[in-house]
Amino acid sequence: MTDTAAPSLQGALPQERRLVTEIPGPVSTALQARKQSAVSAGVGVMLPVYVVRAGGGVLIDADGNSLIDLASGIAVTTVGNANPDVVSAVQTQVAAFTHTCFMVTPYSGYVEVCEALNRLTPGDHEKRSALFNSGAEAVENAVKIARAYTKRQAVVVLEHGYHGRTNLTMGMTAKNMPYKHSFGPFAPEIYRVPASYPFRDRGLKGPEMAEIATTRIDREIGAENVAAIIIEPIQGEGGFIVPDPGYFKAMADFAQAHGIVFVADEIQSGFCRTGDWFASEYEDVVPDLITTAKGIADGMPLAAVTGRAEIMDAVHAGGLGGTYGGNPVACAAALAAIGWMERNDAPALAREIESIMIPRLKEMAVQFPAIGDVRGRGAMIAIELIKPGTMDPDAELAGALSRFCHQHGVVTLTTGTHGNIFRFLPPLTMPHALLEEALGILEQAFEASAS
Ligand SMILES: *Cc1c(COP(=O)(O)O)cnc(C)c1O
Repeated sequence: MTDTAAPSLQGALPQERRLVTEIPGPVSTALQARKQSAVSAGVGVMLPVYVVRAGGGVLIDADGNSLIDLASGIAVTTVGNANPDVVSAVQTQVAAFTHTCFMVTPYSGYVEVCEALNRLTPGDHEKRSALFNSGAEAVENAVKIARAYTKRQAVVVLEHGYHGRTNLTMGMTAKNMPYKHSFGPFAPEIYRVPASYPFRDRGLKGPEMAEIATTRIDREIGAENVAAIIIEPIQGEGGFIVPDPGYFKAMADFAQAHGIVFVADEIQSGFCRTGDWFASEYEDVVPDLITTAKGIADGMPLAAVTGRAEIMDAVHAGGLGGTYGGNPVACAAALAAIGWMERNDAPALAREIESIMIPRLKEMAVQFPAIGDVRGRGAMIAIELIKPGTMDPDAELAGALSRFCHQHGVVTLTTGTHGNIFRFLPPLTMPHALLEEALGILEQAFEASAS
C-alpha cells in the first residue's frame, strides 16, 4: 500500500474489534524478537503488537488484528489517528518544504500555531508562544522563561507530578521507577510539595492541602526565592489525580501574591482532553504560562509554551529555540488538528465519552470492591485499584486486568505512583459502541480476576 492511499483508506478502516490470531500474533512476535536485538533494552514496550494502520477508535496490527484503542498513544491522537484533515495538511506541507529552521528563515505555519495557542489558552491578556519538539522540552523552556523573568531560581513541583525525562524534568518528576532510577544527579533548586489527592488525603479538602503546600514553600524555600510553581491541573502519570476543588486555584493565587510564575503543565490534560480546551478552565484558573504537547498535532512532534507577553518577552533574543522547534510539517498538522477540534466541538465529544464511562465504571465499582475510586474528566478517566477493605494499592490486579484486556483486543494503560491506576484515554473519534464493547471487556477482566 502506498502512503498516498492512506487518507482514503483511513476512512474505510472498519471500526471493529477483530482478533484473527493470539495477541501478539506471529508477525508481531517475530518483529519483537528483532526489536530485542536492535533496540536498547531501556526502551520498553507495553504491548508488543506492531501497528500498521490506525484510525477512528482502532489500531490494526501486522497480523491483521483490529484492537480498540483506549490509549491514543498516551493522549496524543485526540482527533483520531491519521485524521484525514491532518494527513492532507501534512502531505501538502511535506511536498512544499520539510524544514528551514524557523530561526534561520521563518514560515507562516509557526506564527499561525502561536496565534491559535494565544487565542485558545485561558485568559484574554496579551500572550506570546514559542514552539518546541517534546513536552519535556516545553517544560524546560517554561522554567528558563520563568527564571529569566523573575531573576529567581527555585522551582516548585508536586508529589505525584510528571514533567518528562530530560535531566531537569526528571528532577521535577516524582516517581523513581522507571523514570529516575540510576540517572542522577538531578538539577538543583527543585522542591516538591504535597498535591491534592482526594482519595488519599484522609478528608482534607483542597484549600487545606494548598495551605500545607504553601506553608512548606514559605518555611522551606521562601516564596521570594521561587521562580515558578508548575502543576498539572489533572496529574497524568501520577494517576489521573483530580485535585479537590480549590487546591489548584489556591496555588495559583499564592503564586500571584508572591510574584511567582504559575505554570500549568497541560501537556496531557490540554487540547480538549478533559472536556474543556484546557483543564485549567474548569476552576477558572488563568495560568501565567501553559505548556502543551501531546494532543496538539495528532502525533507529529510539537510542543509549546504560551503565556503572558511580558513574561514570554523577558528572554533575550536568541535565548529560546532549537533546530527543529516548530517544524513546518508539525505546524501544519497542529493547525489541521486544531481546526478539526474547533469544527467538531471537541470538548463536547470528550464530555460525551465521560458520560458513557463514568456511570459504567461506577456500576462496576459497586460490583467489584477492588475499584476504590473512579475519577477523571472528559476522555481522561481512571479507576484506582485497591485490596478490598483497605487503602492498599493493588498493582498486581492492574497488571492482570491489562493482560486480559490486551489479550482480548483492547489497548489499555496503567499508571500511578503505585502502578495501581487503570487509565483510559480514548481518541475523541472513538465510536460509542466500540467504547461500550471495550468497557464490557474490562468487566469480563474483573470477573476473570475474581474467579
Ligand atoms: C508526557 C508529559 C510530559 C513530557 O512530554 P514528552 O513529550 O514525553 O517529553 C510532560 N508533562 C506531562 C504532564 C506529560 O503528561
